[in-house]
Amino acid sequence: MREDTPLDLLASLGHSSPETEFYSPYPQGYEKGRCKYVVVLGTVMSGLGKGIFSSSLAKILKDKALRVAPIKMEGYLNIDAGTLNPFRHGEVFVLDDGLETDMDLGTYERMLDENLSRHNFVTSGQIFTRILEHERHGHYLGRDVQMIPHVTGEVKYTLRALALETRADLVFVEVGGTVGDYENGYFIEAIRELAYEEGEHSVGVVALTYIVEPQALGEQKSKAAQLGMRQLMQTGLHPHIIACRCAAPVTDKVRQKISMFSNVPLRRVFSMHDLPSIYLVPEMLREAGLDREVLTLLHLHERVNQRAEDAARARWTRFVGQLLAEKEKTVIIGVTGKYASLRDAYASIDKALEHAAAAAQCRLQVQWIDTTEITPRNVAEMLKGCHGIIVPGGFGSRGAEGKIQCIRYARENHVPYLGICLGFQMAVVEYARHVCGLDGANTTEIDPHCQHPVIDILPEQKKIEGLGGNMRLGGKDVILKSGTGISHLYGDATTVRLRFRHRYEVEPRYIETLERHGLVFGGHAPNQPIMQMLELPATVHPYFFATQAHPCLTSRPLAPDPMFLGLVQAALRRAYPQQAFASLVG
Ligand code: GLN
Repeated sequence: MREDTPLDLLASLGHSSPETEFYSPYPQGYEKGRCKYVVVLGTVMSGLGKGIFSSSLAKILKDKALRVAPIKMEGYLNIDAGTLNPFRHGEVFVLDDGLETDMDLGTYERMLDENLSRHNFVTSGQIFTRILEHERHGHYLGRDVQMIPHVTGEVKYTLRALALETRADLVFVEVGGTVGDYENGYFIEAIRELAYEEGEHSVGVVALTYIVEPQALGEQKSKAAQLGMRQLMQTGLHPHIIACRCAAPVTDKVRQKISMFSNVPLRRVFSMHDLPSIYLVPEMLREAGLDREVLTLLHLHERVNQRAEDAARARWTRFVGQLLAEKEKTVIIGVTGKYASLRDAYASIDKALEHAAAAAQCRLQVQWIDTTEITPRNVAEMLKGCHGIIVPGGFGSRGAEGKIQCIRYARENHVPYLGICLGFQMAVVEYARHVCGLDGANTTEIDPHCQHPVIDILPEQKKIEGLGGNMRLGGKDVILKSGTGISHLYGDATTVRLRFRHRYEVEPRYIETLERHGLVFGGHAPNQPIMQMLELPATVHPYFFATQAHPCLTSRPLAPDPMFLGLVQAALRRAYPQQAFASLVG
């Protein structure tokens, strides 16, 4: 994206020269004032649903046919989220271009129904890496390299490059953490500078805050929010819009207090109370008029297409209606996993199941199963009541034998099964051991010296040392074999594009044996013998599918992933065997 020679850089430095204090790098071709920015900052505490709020706001502006580009700025020093423990930080989301990001990018992709790229995610680790690279290339013209203006300059450059790259009308900047955190302070300073440089009506600041309602008082209190606003104003930024998170609708009295103490007109202080579903948030924001305030603030009214908005709104309302409609039927899907107690670690699976259940018109209950406790003796008891089973992605050996037991149980007892990534590899191990008679079959990830390494490291992965961004990552095409269940699931498509994140694969020399014993590989990588889909024929099992990919990452509210939808439909048939249901397979 960036021309990195000193001369090119000089040309792009705008007002900068060794004689001036202004340092405002912007990419070649950037037109000031064309793109507007909405910055969302959190105060009081984290965990307010900043990502859901920002993505919902971005969505309702996108609905009006504005071109929007979100960006999440993370204060941590990791280059990407790939090395973060999902148990502490939530799921690692993988973009089509292979970047491993924070789970919020998943929220943006689902809300906006579009693929994002590495330009939509930035960490302090990335910013400082670039700064140090520029320094080594002599880009700073002999000056001492400082947090201000150089690091903040890099942040502004990143935002402007995104604006230029995407030709966005509106860039949505979500700053991770809360105002007052040490590590995001320079992002906030960069925003202040951006607002100054871009000029009036270019940058809108939205502060998300929290209204406490202590049970003992039974009354909403605004002091914490007021202090949060004061802290924000100390950074030199003044909020234009304040959104108040609260369990219940925020009272007028509290809104008035916040308005008065922060100089924000009352009509721009919004209640953002809890709702039964995050998918209701866009409509709540629209009804409250948040979108109109943004348009007015940033002079964007002329770019709106009312007809597009009406159509998008109708589509969304239909989905939300389906999602929230009273359902007669319930299916229980068991999800096995190492981090069984943490929903965030499997956020996309949870969402993909939600999309599928809305489309299949049933209530869905997820039962999280800790496989470290599963043995051949208790497996039936542990899976009792599950109408379908998912073994999701994962790393390492913990709970692996328990997963194999679950898969065996699902296969032998005709329980619908969906294996994802590690769940695909474990299904191969299970089949090799119990159907092909390959005793001691395993993955070399768990047992490097096993007798039958049916899952082994990808050849290209053997040379790699160190961690971070070096797995087989990102969106890749999968060639589907015609006539298979999987091609049928994907509407008789010959290729699908799914997202990957793995180091191991089915060892090619075992493919023939596995197929001879009845396992069908219905999808593989183009030009390589990497198996990416497996299934059992419909004559043998009602629904047994697994994939080396992570189809949950590309499931969208308005377009549920077919493998998930197929699983839920098969689970419905198991739960209510007497009734006829729509089906994607067989
Ligand atoms: N650990 C397995 C591999 O590296 C599976 C990875 C995953 O499930 N994401 O191939």
